[in-house]
Amino acid sequence: MDLHKFSISQLLDGLKNKQFSSTELTKHYLKRISKHDDDLNSYISVTEDLALKQADAADKRYHDDKALPLDGIPLAHKDIFCTKGVLTTCGSKMLANFEAPYSSTVYERLNSKGMVMLGKTNMDEFAMGSSNETSYFGPVKNPWNLRNVPGGSSGGSAACVSAELAPVATATDTGGSIRQPASLCGLTGIKPTYGRVSRFGMIAFASSLDQGGVLSRSAEDAALVLEAMSGHDPKDSTSLNYEAPDLISDINKPIKGMKIGLPKEFFEKEMPEYSQKSIQQAIEVYKNLGAEFVEISLRNINLSLPIYYIIAPAECSANLSRYDGVRYGYRCNDPKDIDDLFMRTREEGFGAEVKRRILIGTYVLSAGYYDAYYLKAQKCRRLVANDFLEAFEKVDVILSPTTPGTSFKAGEKTNNPLEMYLQDIFTIPANLVGLPGLSIPCGEHEGLPLGMQLIGNSLEEAKLLQFAHSYQLNTDWHKNMPNL
Ligand code: GLN
Repeated sequence: MDLHKFSISQLLDGLKNKQFSSTELTKHYLKRISKHDDDLNSYISVTEDLALKQADAADKRYHDDKALPLDGIPLAHKDIFCTKGVLTTCGSKMLANFEAPYSSTVYERLNSKGMVMLGKTNMDEFAMGSSNETSYFGPVKNPWNLRNVPGGSSGGSAACVSAELAPVATATDTGGSIRQPASLCGLTGIKPTYGRVSRFGMIAFASSLDQGGVLSRSAEDAALVLEAMSGHDPKDSTSLNYEAPDLISDINKPIKGMKIGLPKEFFEKEMPEYSQKSIQQAIEVYKNLGAEFVEISLRNINLSLPIYYIIAPAECSANLSRYDGVRYGYRCNDPKDIDDLFMRTREEGFGAEVKRRILIGTYVLSAGYYDAYYLKAQKCRRLVANDFLEAFEKVDVILSPTTPGTSFKAGEKTNNPLEMYLQDIFTIPANLVGLPGLSIPCGEHEGLPLGMQLIGNSLEEAKLLQFAHSYQLNTDWHKNMPNL
């Protein structure tokens, strides 16, 4: 049986009806990983023993008629989510030997729903990057074309789901790291409203922007897993005080009469012809489904990238100050004194991109520059938020490209950070404002997939998934996989 072709609800049916066991399903995936992952490098750790133990426990629950909501479904976790007793590296030499003493809420919640962890996925170091080339554990390849990047920073999660080495994976998105790799690997990727998914035990990059979410092969799969991992968590003070949303009940409702905003500033940008064509076709699909289109203006949207590259490095410089060789993680050999310990540990433990961000962040927060850069960026962030508030008075969702184009060649942008940063030009605004956003496949060019982005109003993940699902019921782009 081609179990790796099954959707999550098909897998749940198969498990319930005893067509196959979770142990068989888990072994099927482990076999695929050992066959294909040497080429892709999408996993940092494969937790075979643990997975088989969890699968066995799931099988017993099925046998006893006590199955949990997602019982026996395998998944991969981005290696940014702490997992007790299992390596959690965040893609860095700094944490290359770090075994977390506790598990993240995301892991705990999915575990408590019966999900089986196959392993931890590769990622850009501390989630900084758009191509998964900054990982200490080596670059990840795009399964659609091994010479290309899968996107980042959740490149391992994206590559393993699109290569069908896991049915679904967790991921995080600070400026686009779920949606951009989803676009480049032909997946559905959703970043919920800031605060929907607990950040407890999710290693911090930029705390006011980081948000956990899901990379999957369809909106329906994403809904099932996102619902299971969301909801208030007293261990995270920025967690929103709402129960997990119901993401499934309304997913089949028609979108007829609903309004989609097209931000003119996004469409004024230079775009490859194939992107324009794909987006135009997607617009036609939605028109046929009865959606209405409204042109909107997000006047200050062009400030988003500069705002992000002040605020994200500022928060990163504060968050990463904890890696000093004293408490945990990497420590340099034979330090001469305490200054030498701090300096050499950080010099040797962090990669170039992380250092670049720490330098920028320390600079924009330093006395004399704080007002000119950091404070100003925060004020501009409010302007962008106001634009969205106004827009959502008129529309239900906002549609745009996810990325400027399809996946690029490995090495193509590594020497030009600015060009790399432009990958996230369409995704960053949702992080700045804390809004939910998703990417779904909407076309292909020269054998590589391309996504479109939908941004929703605060807490409206269900509506976003309803839009994504109705598109997927009427198109086949999301069904195309590289077929390894
Ligand atoms: N690519 C962006 C960056 O490098 C976003 C990363 C992310 O979302 N984690 O900061």
